[in-house]
Amino acid sequence: FRTQVGVVGAGPAGLVLALLLQQAGIACIVLDRQTREYVETRARAGFLEHRIVEFLRRNGFSKGLDLRGVQHTTCEFRLEGRQYIVPYGDMAGCAHTVYPQQFVVSDLIELFIARGGTILFSHPVVKIEGLEDDKAVIHCHAQNNIDHSPVVKQVECDFIAGCDGFHGIARASIPPDRFSAVTRQYGIGWLALLAEVPSSTERVIYALHESGFAGQMPRTPQVTRFYLECSPQDKESDWPEERIWHELRKRMAVNSNDGDRSGNDELVPGKLIERRVLDMRSVVTETMQYGNLFLAGDAAHIITPVGAKGMNLAIADSEFLAEAFITYYREGDGTHLSKYTETRLPHVWQTIEFSDWMLRLIHNLDESGSRTFSDRLRRARLERLCGQGDYANTFAANYVGK
Ligand code: FAD
Repeated sequence: FRTQVGVVGAGPAGLVLALLLQQAGIACIVLDRQTREYVETRARAGFLEHRIVEFLRRNGFSKGLDLRGVQHTTCEFRLEGRQYIVPYGDMAGCAHTVYPQQFVVSDLIELFIARGGTILFSHPVVKIEGLEDDKAVIHCHAQNNIDHSPVVKQVECDFIAGCDGFHGIARASIPPDRFSAVTRQYGIGWLALLAEVPSSTERVIYALHESGFAGQMPRTPQVTRFYLECSPQDKESDWPEERIWHELRKRMAVNSNDGDRSGNDELVPGKLIERRVLDMRSVVTETMQYGNLFLAGDAAHIITPVGAKGMNLAIADSEFLAEAFITYYREGDGTHLSKYTETRLPHVWQTIEFSDWMLRLIHNLDESGSRTFSDRLRRARLERLCGQGDYANTFAANYVGK
């Protein structure tokens, strides 16, 4: 194969980039190590920022989310049985759209293929070379069509877009002496759950509790995501179903009218379809470009799920990267490409900063050695958030991605 841009990874970053290049008449091939069915059913994110929805709409990529996406404009914090509702949509004048990531991915794949695009599924990329030359080469494993024996294929390209996530091969192909990344490990874990149960409220819940954070995020009318703060060393087997539902009920309980915290919560247990421990950390690769390799999405940065920014940031990287490729191929001007890292990093850091701020609001981090101090701080933050004013407005605009 020979193409102009080889895109490694058929996640949100790779697919948005490929569609934008295709629309501009730039040749590209997408490779993914997984099957199409696998990537189209991999449930992860669910909240799309306002500006990302507008971008997808402008480009004609929003048919599915316009039909099935649900608008969200309020979120709720819970502390000691009290409910603090933040109408962030009214404050910012726009809404989130809840549309599961696997639907976004599936819609983009369908559109790209319908428009004549090539995605090589079940093609794990095993080597990338020629990053400093005129011609980069992607080596991938595949199966012979006739006898299914293993074969190695090569894709030659002008540029490679590494959109293959944090554990992919693209970031690992940058020479160590040219690679730089900055990490924050928060020392906490989240037990991430998906359950076949309707959400107990129509909005996101962030419950701050002495036993740790608990969260509820609607996904579809039948499926809800829950999170429970836990130790990052916990195993899934430490969390049997009974313990999960007990902790969710306890941490998310609200005061009923007579002041009893056992709660008027509507939470009902349902079948758990995903249960995994996430180590809460953020990592920013400060080398988003090396030679003719450009990293986008989780390949370049991972961000804790707090604030629901990862998929949005991945799509925003690809929007910029596509523009830079288009300027290069149409006008022969490589300035935007050469400024990719320097242009994207400030935006990435602003998003990380918001997520870090929010993480400190919903967890009692013991960094200063005093849990009481950090607990008082987060209470003060919550009070300010629920007041009306610039503080709350800034939160609303950042949260919804205005
Ligand atoms: P990915 O979606 O990871 O796609 C990378 C692709 O590359 C994959 O398809 C993979 O198979 C392929 N690949 C990897 N290695 C190779 C290889 N060697 N060869 C070929 N292909 C390869 N974000 C939000 O915005 N909002 C949320 O609410 C949210 N919630 C989340 C909840 C959870 C539990 C998790 C885990 C994440 C969440 N995120 C959220 C983050 C979001 O899912 C990611 O940021 C997003 O998937 C990044 O997209 P991407 O295209 O960069 O990478």
